[in-house]
Amino acid sequence: MYLLFLGTGAGLPSKRRNVSAIVLSITETNRCLWLFDCGEGTQHQFLKSPAKLTKLRRIFLTHLHGDHLFGLPGLLSSRSFQAPDKPLSVYGPPGTTQWIENALTLSGTHLSYPLDVVEVDTAQAGESAHLAAVVCEDGEPVVSAAALNHTITCVGYRIAERDRPGRLDRDRLQAMGIPPGPIYKRLQQGESVTLPDGRVIDGRTLTGPPRRGRTVAILGDTAPCANAVRLAQEADVLVHEATFAAADEALAATYRHSTSLQAAWVAREAGARRLLLTHVSSRYSEDDLQRLLDEARSVFPDTDLAHDLWVCPVPKPGDTGGA
Ligand SMILES: [Zn+2]
Ligand SMILES: [Zn+2]
Repeated sequence: MYLLFLGTGAGLPSKRRNVSAIVLSITETNRCLWLFDCGEGTQHQFLKSPAKLTKLRRIFLTHLHGDHLFGLPGLLSSRSFQAPDKPLSVYGPPGTTQWIENALTLSGTHLSYPLDVVEVDTAQAGESAHLAAVVCEDGEPVVSAAALNHTITCVGYRIAERDRPGRLDRDRLQAMGIPPGPIYKRLQQGESVTLPDGRVIDGRTLTGPPRRGRTVAILGDTAPCANAVRLAQEADVLVHEATFAAADEALAATYRHSTSLQAAWVAREAGARRLLLTHVSSRYSEDDLQRLLDEARSVFPDTDLAHDLWVCPVPKPGDTGGA
């Protein structure tokens, strides 16, 4: 699993940073890609990156501000030529369906693949409710969403892998005279298996504790709020906007954005393991951005500032590296 930042700027593109878009590869092998937000120029950023549009299966929109959305019609259209028969799902706040239909219809764009648009029920995903499940399919991470605090409806997403069965004690099985084969998988799932010689083996006695799946929280634009903390609860990685420096906290409040320091407080309160800052304002020079990063690290040391085309692995718990 890895994150690929395609656009890390706020509001409008600059020479160094395009507007918002983040790819999440949910497999180790780059087979299936999800995209979070699709600012203008996102399909160009794809071309500069190792990610392929042909592998894109789901798009999650946080909100309908242009810097998160204006790249969508072009990307949907181009995908027709590259993955003409592979279905695509788009999730987003209320209004997403109308926006896409208008853009495609008025421009006479015909898609060659099935497009499914799902609007997140923000009433369910409100401040006081628990997280609303958006996607839940066998073999894939579970995605939940909750409303954030921005100038228009904005949702954040929590992507949680399912826990995996514990490690199977293969040495012990071989010592018991049971060679590797399909039976190992059944035992690892905790099944009781009767061998041809009549012995009954209980898989639960041969496997370790379940292995925790990874959790990534990708929030959209927001001022600090309870749902941001809820979405990021004990996440392996929290991706949080940091539009402003701490000195500009009043501006952040006016536009319902966050400072890097506020993002760090959210990460700390949620017990997240790592914080990645993105969506930084072009008003700051690269030197200023080091200050934003230092401010966040003063509260939450395991913080990094994303840059365009950065690939950030999300290791399995217990792994020190890998994908
Ligand atoms: Zn934005
Ligand atoms: Zn916004």
